[in-house]
Amino acid sequence: MTTTQLETPSSGKYTQPTGLFINNEWVKGVDGKTFETINPSTEEVICSVAEATEKDVDIAVAAARKAFEGPWKKVTPEERGRLLVKLADLVEKNLDLLAAVEALDNGKALSMAKVDVGMVAGCLRYYGGWADKIEGKVIDTNPDTFSYTRHEPVGVCGQIIPWNFPLLMWSWKIGPAVATGNTVVLKTAEQTPLSALVAANLVKEAGFPPGVINIISGFGKVAGAAISSHMDVDKVAFTGSTVVGRQIMKAAASSNLKKVTLELGGKSPNIVFNDADIENAISWVNFGIFFNHGQCCCAGSRIYVQSGIYDKFVERFKARATANKVGDPFGDDTFQGPQVSQLQFDRIMGYIEEGKKEGATVVTGGERHGDKGYFIQPTIFSDVKEDMKIMQEEIFGPVCSIAKFETEEDAIKVGNGSTYGLAAAVHTTNLNTAIRVANSLRAGTVWVNQYNMLHHTTPFGGYKSSGLGRELGEEALFNYTETKSVAIRLGDALF
Ligand code: ADP
Repeated sequence: MTTTQLETPSSGKYTQPTGLFINNEWVKGVDGKTFETINPSTEEVICSVAEATEKDVDIAVAAARKAFEGPWKKVTPEERGRLLVKLADLVEKNLDLLAAVEALDNGKALSMAKVDVGMVAGCLRYYGGWADKIEGKVIDTNPDTFSYTRHEPVGVCGQIIPWNFPLLMWSWKIGPAVATGNTVVLKTAEQTPLSALVAANLVKEAGFPPGVINIISGFGKVAGAAISSHMDVDKVAFTGSTVVGRQIMKAAASSNLKKVTLELGGKSPNIVFNDADIENAISWVNFGIFFNHGQCCCAGSRIYVQSGIYDKFVERFKARATANKVGDPFGDDTFQGPQVSQLQFDRIMGYIEEGKKEGATVVTGGERHGDKGYFIQPTIFSDVKEDMKIMQEEIFGPVCSIAKFETEEDAIKVGNGSTYGLAAAVHTTNLNTAIRVANSLRAGTVWVNQYNMLHHTTPFGGYKSSGLGRELGEEALFNYTETKSVAIRLGDALF
């Protein structure tokens, strides 16, 4: 069997694919292995899915290679675009089901999952639009030569995605890869395999030829490692932890030097100046850290507040955070659901204990929420010193650290005082301050008077240990193309 019957509180009963999606077919793994996926709200098993081993990765890569060398090459750019737009339409048509599956498997609030799925459609449609706009240049070298460039697909792309935005990451990876004419073997995270499998059916329905988009479930150390070290994978795109990012880069280097793009961790500063609109700033700071239960690589987890408003800010932010509704992802006004897994829950609780031990003040939270499911109270630490673990390490949960600063110079210094550089934000009503600070922060994205407002048109990625390359926008296309220069002799032989 490669399907099972499941039910969600919002969508009712549905058929959940559980196999590996290779060559547009549902198959069991060669070894017939399976693993369980857990509902983080109840800690109960949802179902089992097929687990890809190294042999299955080989089969999926061979399918992707065959499609790349064969039928997919003949598909026109316009047609690639049409297929992506069709897929976007199907995602929208199935928005309620996809969001429900996401909420069930990942634990995110259904309302937020619906926003994610809307963004998935937006991203696919956007890259569908790019498919027939991949243009080279004619370069004037000298009168005897006609030179031009082409942007050709890299080939078979391995894509390894995390569990925090399972479908959104799926679209960020598939969209630019397919638009530029590549084929894909995508591995979902072992904590959240379900939504991408539902979406795989839509890939087939949209009309993609077999082997263009292959989707497998499996573990990082097995299937993920097999992808990153595979000799016939031309590129690997990864989103996840910095620790695993390093391993992937090493595997790529020591196998076939496949191209690598990495979107890794963060410890992003959220800087609030005395002249900020304080109520707006608090809303964005709250959203910056507690959105998606703090499970965002760009989470604004280091909050720096200027001394003139520090006490007022801490008091009001506390009121705001304690009002965030934590609970059942399918509840009407739930803002924060459970963390994704026992492992993540334990890691986060470990950091909270560490913060208490290091002498930071718990402003609010600091405990588990309820006694079933991986729920954690929104937690704010104040009086946090720069060298404390909770200020330096990525926690990936609903936990933030606040510290006071005096001058703009100080804010820039502490803002940049991290090995990461994914995102940052500045809250001020002074345009000059906003631009000066935004330009001085070493981060791939800087928000001003807002947070977490990603858009598929705008590049996203990290400075320093936060990654390599940029996703989204036109820049993502460069990750998936090789530039070829062609130089044609017009005159006679030179030598
Ligand atoms: P987290 O620690 O938050 O679970 P990871 O970086 O471990 O994040 O996981 C992100 C993705 O990377 C998942 O799909 C996971 O299976 C995969 N992964 C984990 N370890 C490896 C590895 N050694 N090689 C390739 N992929 C891996």
